[in-house]
Amino acid sequence: MKDIKKWYLSKSIKFKIISAYILSLLIIGIVGYGYYVYTNIKSTNKEINFYKQKLIETQKTSVKSVVNIAMAGIKNYYEEYKDGKLTEKEAKAEAIKFIKSIRYNTFGNINSLDYIWLATSKGVMILDPARPDLENKNVLNMKDKNGVYLFKEMVRTIKSEGSGFISYCWVKFNGDKNKCYPKISYIEYFYPWDWVVGSGFYLSDIDKTIDSFASKTRFRIAMTTLSSVILGGLISLIAALVFYNLISFVTKFLKRVGKISERLVREEISPKLKIPVISHDEIGALVSHFNKFVDESYKVVIFKKTIEEDADINTVYKRLFDLIKDEFNIKLFNIFEVDNSKHYLKHITVYGDEKLMCKQEILINCSMCRAVRTAKDVDSFLEKEVCLSFNATGIKNHVCIPMLVSGSVGTVVQLIFDEKEKTKEIKGKIKRLKIFLKEAAPVIEAKRLLERLRESTLRDPLTGIYNRRFLDEFSPTFIATVKRRNTEAGILMIDIDFFKQVNDIYGHNVGDEVLKTVVRSISRSVREADIVVRFGGEEFIVLLQDVNEKLALEIAERIRSDVEKTDINIQGNIIRKTVSIGVSIFPKDSKNLWQCIKFSDVAMYSAKESGRNKVVRFEPSMWTEENY
Ligand code: GH3
Ligand code: MG
Ligand code: MG
Repeated sequence: MKDIKKWYLSKSIKFKIISAYILSLLIIGIVGYGYYVYTNIKSTNKEINFYKQKLIETQKTSVKSVVNIAMAGIKNYYEEYKDGKLTEKEAKAEAIKFIKSIRYNTFGNINSLDYIWLATSKGVMILDPARPDLENKNVLNMKDKNGVYLFKEMVRTIKSEGSGFISYCWVKFNGDKNKCYPKISYIEYFYPWDWVVGSGFYLSDIDKTIDSFASKTRFRIAMTTLSSVILGGLISLIAALVFYNLISFVTKFLKRVGKISERLVREEISPKLKIPVISHDEIGALVSHFNKFVDESYKVVIFKKTIEEDADINTVYKRLFDLIKDEFNIKLFNIFEVDNSKHYLKHITVYGDEKLMCKQEILINCSMCRAVRTAKDVDSFLEKEVCLSFNATGIKNHVCIPMLVSGSVGTVVQLIFDEKEKTKEIKGKIKRLKIFLKEAAPVIEAKRLLERLRESTLRDPLTGIYNRRFLDEFSPTFIATVKRRNTEAGILMIDIDFFKQVNDIYGHNVGDEVLKTVVRSISRSVREADIVVRFGGEEFIVLLQDVNEKLALEIAERIRSDVEKTDINIQGNIIRKTVSIGVSIFPKDSKNLWQCIKFSDVAMYSAKESGRNKVVRFEPSMWTEENY
């Protein structure tokens, strides 16, 4: 049984369906036709019986009329005897002659075989063409083969009713002499001569007629059965062909899906994999779903490929933003980024019009954000007050989806909905978006790493401030910004005084410490937007944005005095250093930024020459061709 099951399961769908079809046809055929033939035979038998009864009735009527004719003849000769035309003996002899002459046959095929017999009511046989040996003998006590005293029965019928039918068995005129054939006879009594007149028919003759009728009927049934079997077979064959075609259509489709799935596994996704929708049935629906899946997968693949090729992380965020806004049609959402130190949360604003719907604290302490802390979806549809940092609880619903890379949260996408219930549409959107986010997460992380790497090449590893390479890259942006805002920028060139001595006396490590201390002094004297660059060994440039000449000089002075006052603890000794600062103003002194930097350098040397620990404003008189 197990083997059969295994064998059956290994067969193709076509085989399974067609074999099931043939099996069911056989069952329906056998049961259906069996029942058809059975009911037909039953009704035919009923019909045959009915026909037999009718035939018996007809036969009885004709036998009765034949006996009536014989009676009329007897009466006629009796009348002649009464009229004196004949003697009684002559009349009886004429009557017997007449009765002997009556031969008839209702079945037509055998001529004049049926006859009329005569006997007395005492049982003396007068005339019997079938058994002439019995003539003039008393047959009153004769029994037929079934034990019926047929003459006694006749006498009883005559005495009570005058005429009637009786059933018994008797020899047949042209039949087997030793056999007793069932017979029905009609008898009448002629009182004046004490004659019993009778004639009958054999049931076997009726059976013969019935048999031919029955065989004709059975042949008819067999023929209609056979023709309906042939017709049914033909219809079944046509149905099988239609069926086969349909199955082929389905199996072809399945094969195609299988092949495409194989390609999908190999990540060869493309809209070309879509299958044309031919039928608008379940298969059509399945194909539509499949095509939708291909479309969707393709969108995801293209999205991933696009963001992978994007230049920087901001472009990626912009694309993610557009995706959520346009593809998902979500009106309100926020993107947050956990910073590298894993303390802060950056609110990524792409267009600058997103509103922070969470408490400000999450920005300075990212563990306040439940999605960051739990690394799980935070869904207020499921639990209303799930996140205490969300500001619009009860008014709006939020779903915050963390984007994980190697187990930790890098980015959080917060979707905000006006709807009170999580509709099927929202559920679908979230499910779909998560597929995109899952693909985007490693790309975002890779971009961030790359950014960090690039950042490190633009910074000085000792002090953490920007290096000269950064200045080279940043200068076009800086120039454009100053020009666009139509403001001025101060350029400070800062050089530590007698720095060489520190190295010489205390060694390089102490020199490095001094450098870091000076950078701290500079950093705390300027604003965050200002850019501090380590320009050379112990030379720094500060680009002060949006300042006038006065403010630039003030800031330079602030730096100078901060450095001067700062104690530097070196191996138990306290030392202090000073700086010389040259100041120029861009684009006031020159429209060329690099020229301005040069001018501040010239001013710085001027400060050195005039005694160091000074701030000197560049003046055109300081500039001679040789200096450049
Ligand atoms: P002044 O500028 O006042 O004329 O005198 P100075 O001693 O500072 O002279 P100079 O500019 O010639 O000396 C710069 C020295 O800074 C030379 C170099 O050994 C030292 N230096 C440059 N970069 C580093 C650094 O990264 N670490 C340390 N410790 N020393 C450095
Ligand atoms: Mg120096
Ligand atoms: Mg120097």
